[in-house]
Order: sequence, then structure tokens, then C-alpha cells
Amino acid sequence: MTADSWKDDAQRDLVRNVGERAALFVRGEGAALWDAEGRRYLDFLAGIAVNSIGHAHPTFVEAVSRQAATLAHVSNFFATPSQLELAARLKRLAGTGPDGRVYFGNSGAEANEAAFKLARLHGGADRPRILAFKDAFHGRTMGTLALTGKPYMQEPFLPMVPGVEFIDSTVEALEQAMDDRVAALFVEPIKGEAGVVELPEGFLRAAREITARHGALLIVDEIQTGAGRTGAWFAFQHAGITPDAITVAKGIGGGFPIGALITFGAASELFYPGTHGSTFGGNALGTAVASAVLGEIESADLVANAAVRGQQIREAVAAIGSPLVDGCRGQGLLIGIALRHPVAGAVVAAAQEHGLIVNAANDSTVRLAPPLTIGDVEIDEFADLFARALSTVEQALLLDVPTTPEEASA
Ligand code: PLP
Repeated sequence: MTADSWKDDAQRDLVRNVGERAALFVRGEGAALWDAEGRRYLDFLAGIAVNSIGHAHPTFVEAVSRQAATLAHVSNFFATPSQLELAARLKRLAGTGPDGRVYFGNSGAEANEAAFKLARLHGGADRPRILAFKDAFHGRTMGTLALTGKPYMQEPFLPMVPGVEFIDSTVEALEQAMDDRVAALFVEPIKGEAGVVELPEGFLRAAREITARHGALLIVDEIQTGAGRTGAWFAFQHAGITPDAITVAKGIGGGFPIGALITFGAASELFYPGTHGSTFGGNALGTAVASAVLGEIESADLVANAAVRGQQIREAVAAIGSPLVDGCRGQGLLIGIALRHPVAGAVVAAAQEHGLIVNAANDSTVRLAPPLTIGDVEIDEFADLFARALSTVEQALLLDVPTTPEEASA
């Protein structure tokens, strides 16, 4: 494979489930990536909120190496110290108290599949209904696709797993849809794939009250928002509520594939032997790496860093003063930059040209999800590269942008 031929190889050999790959990356360090031609990029996407402590962090490298050289996998007939350590750590960080339990899978979708089964176990025949949000994203497997409120994603794969109904993410819509035949409400606390869209103020507290009143589970999908990204370990904690279950993945493993369902209180007693499982889920290697990643986030105080750096990025974006930008959404280091025109794809492409990796969450939203480790240096570099990308697109659109410093300050 040469630097030129990789696109042909990808075209020929990889399933065409995504569009053309934008680059061939061969190495990463911190918030930087290098392509096959040795060009460096600033990574403000982190594999879509995955590389929480950046690329090739010494803690990550050490944990993978040490555990691979010790014990990688034994099957779920047996326990391992790293699995037990991670379960205890996740319970502590999520605040489940002693009643909590953890089920391990290998991805976000697997965590949500487990949550779906939890909802069915809770609901039984009396509660066939499951509520989820229009426009929320919970995964691509058949179960999680059924929970995903995006008709265009479901359409090629109909019929869906039955029972899921989609509602607007408002308290009024929830009140209207809720009854005693609902097994669970699935909540994406910030709709990442929909364009980094926050819930209305007070929604989670109201949802907790309404679901409890009707005996339905409140299940919060923290797959994109968890691991400290929003400036709390998990986004539900900003609301001061206790859900019945949360799902986590992405940033928990920092690049190692792992997902988990974390249950609280009575919901922890729903699964019983034989009801669920995964060969790889919770193996010694994955759990050791995730424990090390969470340990690093904790000891380096990266949750607080996410809150501070998120604010700094918002200010930096505002300071660019681009006529294209209509403000920022999101929390901490999960940021959606709203554009006034549907040109997010062009901004992302221009950013890459300038050496910056970001992503278009939708036509008019650029999503940032950088490593939680970023500091002043990375933010200054981001501001410079992003300003250049915006300017490239502004020129292309021939927007009415100031061309001289006098005009700019007028
Ligand atoms: N839930 C949310 C909120 C997500 O953002 C994602 C992935 O983007 C998933 C679920 C699915 O996770 P995975 O791609 O690891 O299966």
C-alpha cells in the first residue's frame, strides 16, 4: 500500500457502509494525528468522543501492554481482578451505591442492547411500550436502531423490533405519552448525532419524576456524554437525579472497544442467569485498559478540565467573529458549532485542508469532541486553524465578510 493507493484499496476491500474515508492515519500522540505522508493534524474529534486521554497516552500504552502480557481473556465463566476493579470504579463514579451492578459489552450498541433487554425484563407482558426521542441516536444494531428516532436510518431495515414509540424531548410530550404500560424511557442527554442538541432545562428532573410515578425505568444513554466529557462524570449528574440505568462506551476505553450497562437500585436485580451475555464483554484486557483510562481522567482532574476548556473553546469561537457562526451548543467538551448556512461539510473539509480534524454532526453543525487532555496550546492552535477553515468557506460562499481591518472593526 502506498500513500496514493490506499483510497483504491479502501474502495475495493471495505464494505461501503460509509462514504469515502477522508485520510489514512498512521500515528497519533496526544491531540495530534499524522497521515501516511507525515502531515500532522490537530484532532478535535478524538474518534468521535473516544480518545478521552488523547492518542498513545503512556497510561493507555502501559495498561494495554501490561495486561496483554499478563492475561487477556478467560470467558465469563470466570472473573478477573481487572473486571471487578472496573465494575467497582464505574459504580463509584456513577454513584450507584452498593445496589448497583455492571454488565460489560464491547461497544455502545451492545450496552444499549443490554439496556433494551433490561427494559423488556422490567416491562414483561404488562408494559410493552418503550419511549425514546425523535432524532436521538442509540446505535446501529437492530435493537438499538429500533430505539433510534431517525426514520431514514430505520427505513432500509424495516420491520423494526416492535414496541418503541418516539416523542419530542419535552416534558409536555413525555407527560402526554406516559402511562402504566411504559416499561422505560430512553434518554440521550445531549443529542450528539442530531447536532449536539441539549434537552430543555429541567427535563431530566421532570423525566425522573414522571417515570417514577408510572413505574417506568429511566435509562440514560451516556455513550457520547460520559467519561467526563460534559464536565461531570456523566451528564445526568448535572441534573442531580438518580436514573435506573445508564449506558457507557466510547471515552471509557479511550480507544479500546468496551461498553457497559450500569444499573441502579431495583433495576440491578432484573437480569438473572442465562438472560444475557457476550463472549468478549468484560474481558481482562478491555477492563484493565478502561480502568487505567478512568484512573487517568480522575487523577489528572480531566472532568474539571473538560468544563474549563469547553468554555475557553466557546470564547475562542466567538472571538473569531465569523459571519458563518451562529453560536455554540453542548456542554463541556462536547460542542456543536451552529452555522448559519448548511455548509458544515465544507467547513470540515476546509478544516482538514488546514490540518484540523472536526466533524459535521449535520448539515449546519460542526461537532467538536477533543481529548479531555487539551490545554491552552491546543485551543490556540484550534482557534487559528478553525478561523482559517471558516474563512476559506466564507470566501467560497462570497459572504459579506470584512476584508480590511478597518471594516472588521467598523
Ligand atoms: N449511543 C450514542 C449516544 C452514541 O453517540 C453512539 C455512537 O455514536 C451509540 C449509542 C452507539 O455506540 P457504538 O457506535 O459504539 O455502537
